[in-house]
Amino acid sequence: MDLYLSDEYIMIRDAARDFATREIAPVAEHYDQTGEFPMPIVKRMGELGLMGIEVPEDYGGAGMDAVAYVLAMEEIAKADVATSTIMSVNNSLYCHGILTFGSEEQKKTWVTPIASGRQIGAYALTEPMSGSDAGTMRTRAELSADGSYYVIDGRKSWITSGPVADRLVLFAKTDPDTNPKHKGISAFLIDTRLPGFVRGKVEPKLGIRASATCEVIFEEYKCPVENCLGKPGDGFRIAMTVLDAGRIGIAAQSLGVAEAAYAASLEYARQREAFGQPIGSFQMIQQKIADMKTRIEASRLLIYQAALAKMAAKKSGGRYSTEAAMAKLFASETAMFVTHQAVQIHGGMGYSKELPIERYFRDAKITEIYEGTSEIQRMVIARNELGLR
Ligand SMILES: Cc1cc2nc3c(=O)[nH]c(=O)nc-3n(C[C@H](O)[C@H](O)[C@H](O)COP(=O)(O)OP(=O)(O)OC[C@H]3O[C@@H](n4cnc5c(N)ncnc54)[C@H](O)[C@@H]3O)c2cc1C
Repeated sequence: MDLYLSDEYIMIRDAARDFATREIAPVAEHYDQTGEFPMPIVKRMGELGLMGIEVPEDYGGAGMDAVAYVLAMEEIAKADVATSTIMSVNNSLYCHGILTFGSEEQKKTWVTPIASGRQIGAYALTEPMSGSDAGTMRTRAELSADGSYYVIDGRKSWITSGPVADRLVLFAKTDPDTNPKHKGISAFLIDTRLPGFVRGKVEPKLGIRASATCEVIFEEYKCPVENCLGKPGDGFRIAMTVLDAGRIGIAAQSLGVAEAAYAASLEYARQREAFGQPIGSFQMIQQKIADMKTRIEASRLLIYQAALAKMAAKKSGGRYSTEAAMAKLFASETAMFVTHQAVQIHGGMGYSKELPIERYFRDAKITEIYEGTSEIQRMVIARNELGLR
């Protein structure tokens, strides 16, 4: 469906599709099975501008907009969700926050190498004892006696690209006694080559196995005060604003994997015969096809709406939390629904590693969990609708 898309958007989408089909899809299974980080692909994506799509060219990016971002994300995810996760964190969780809240100097120094794909960025909010309830984080940043640096101590978990990241945006408590608790959080720009930064246990995962995930540990890490992002105490607001942008990317990723599973199912329903006829002639299979297609197209509309809301907010300075949460909620639950139905339509072959269907099913699940679970998206939408804080 090309509704709303200009020729330029179609060109961007087709270029991403062509790259993903030629260079990602053929090796996706290899990276899933080995769990290796797909560094050669990530470097190529950097050359093509896919690691900083909305970043202005002055800071090493492709200078495009939010619609271009979701179109490209969908195509990369169709070929491999794990690769699209690496792309999503780099674009949204890392670059977007610095572009929105950083000083000119921070944008130049911290965004340029990451948006151009020469280096890899990560985002560290979650901790072993603090996930959905991020305000309860324990990682501590204490200002030095001379006020020139913060000393950071703590442990962050589930950090996407953590094993290979050159830089990350970190959230830590600068004022642990503040009430409400989220007011005492600040954001920091971290160079992973400095002493005191330690990479911890790598997580063995159900899906998106090629997107490396690990704990990162801070042991008396000295962060210069000029590497504080935004004002001290603004960290929670920064983290949540960045997640609004991130959620639109995850929604587009969900759409991509749903489409891949749907296309394979449609083909299988046409080819596979049972009881002397193609299984697509059975009403129960047709019902699945109809529900899959309808949910996919409804997801697409919510994603485009959220991308347009993000573009409008860039001009007006407003938020687009509800649009982003609705797009992520619906598209991720659609990805899970569609990949589940795809396994069923493929019967035994849906359960076999000979086809990518089981990988789609394993990969889709994460979209309902990270960057806010489905329960948290429902909470965001309902609270915004009810006018609650
Ligand atoms: C593969 C992977 C990659 C990730 N990458 C990153 C990353 O790069 N950076 C980062 O900072 N984090 C990352 N995360 C962490 C992720 O964002 C968290 O796992 C997620 O936010 C949920 O937190 P939790 O796991 O602590 O679950 P919990 O918060 O403990 O939630 C457990 C369950 O309780 C439910 N729940 C919690 N609160 C409520 C409530 N108020 N109402 C109703 N239900 C509720 C949740 O929805 C969930 O079902 C990643 C996670 C995974 C699995």
